[in-house]
Amino acid sequence: MGELRPGAAVADKPAPAAATRASKRKTPARAGGDAAPPFVAWLDAVPFACAAYAHDDGALVAANRRFMDEFGELPEHTQRERLLRGLHGDGSADPQPIEVHAPHNGRWYALHWGALPSDDGALALLTAVDISERIETLDSHKTQQEKLLFTSRLMSVGEMAATLAHELNQPLAAIVNYLNGSLRLVDQAGGPVQVERALHAARAQAEHASAVISRVREFVRAREPRRDAHELATIAGTVLELLRLEAERLQLRIDLALAPALPAVYADRVMVEQVLLNLVKNAIEAMREVPAAQRELRVEGRVNLDGEIEVRVCDRGHGLSAQDQDQLFSPFFTTKTDGLGIGLAICRSIIEYHEGRLFFEPRDGGGSVFGFTLPRADGRA
Ligand code: ADP
Repeated sequence: MGELRPGAAVADKPAPAAATRASKRKTPARAGGDAAPPFVAWLDAVPFACAAYAHDDGALVAANRRFMDEFGELPEHTQRERLLRGLHGDGSADPQPIEVHAPHNGRWYALHWGALPSDDGALALLTAVDISERIETLDSHKTQQEKLLFTSRLMSVGEMAATLAHELNQPLAAIVNYLNGSLRLVDQAGGPVQVERALHAARAQAEHASAVISRVREFVRAREPRRDAHELATIAGTVLELLRLEAERLQLRIDLALAPALPAVYADRVMVEQVLLNLVKNAIEAMREVPAAQRELRVEGRVNLDGEIEVRVCDRGHGLSAQDQDQLFSPFFTTKTDGLGIGLAICRSIIEYHEGRLFFEPRDGGGSVFGFTLPRADGRA
């Protein structure tokens, strides 16, 4: 049985650390007797990176050429625990294959440890199979699937929006015309002032609805929405004004709490208004059945830890069961008898289009928090 010569089969690239051990150890026993080829030649015949470590002190005993090519530049490769710590932060050689991301070359490996009996102490045999291609394919499938999901959500929402926009545009234009006519009549008759105020409020609502619809139509026609720098205070002001009458009717307090000097958001104003309107409306609806003293709504705006603008609509309504939370953003999920269940799905598409995130959290002390993030406009608009 010959000497263990780790460098022998890697003639043009000897394994320096392995060579230091070579003189002290014997080649591991091999079925078939003395005609065994040098140990490293066996390792070299394996088509993956392969190395043997002493079982007792974990020192590298032999390595094939491929191992030296792929791991030789890692100073930790000469000792098993140090190598493992360098690759996955934990020094234990797991008997189960594990997948690691090697920091020194950015590749993914499946590591597998096997035991190898030898004359002078057992060896631990490491094979490291490069699985980067499989991981990359999986990753790209995942992003592809996410994109597809996003597009199909946009498409189903888009088709519905196109139909709705078409159906609603005509009656809305007629409503605005009738309101203008009524305003003229009230003006000629010199009052009453309450009617005039109500007609103005109704016209503002109808005009907002028209603006939303025409923007949705643009969006559906795949035209670029208009993203610019906008102050959250203006967006929130418009939305809360639209809902003021409904809030008064329900004796509901609305608190707008924006952090001082909040940077502008980079967004399509009407689309974000639509999202906020939807969330605030849902919050108001959730508080219909709770005692009036409890009906308190808070709209918060702040910069979050990631530097994005975060808007939070916090209510004291009935909240959501764990089961409902899971389906919350799926199209057509509704718990209302007259609900369509597309509001939150549309909000999510709009917010994702803006590179933001729509989220739900239970509110401390009862109720819900629906929120979204938007990029800030600094340096973009
Ligand atoms: P819709 O209002 O037509 O039901 P949405 O997509 O806007 O559609 O909302 C879906 C469902 O999410 C609602 O039916 C309701 O069950 C739940 N939900 C939304 N907002 C709230 C909220 N603030 N509090 C409790 N439940 C809510």
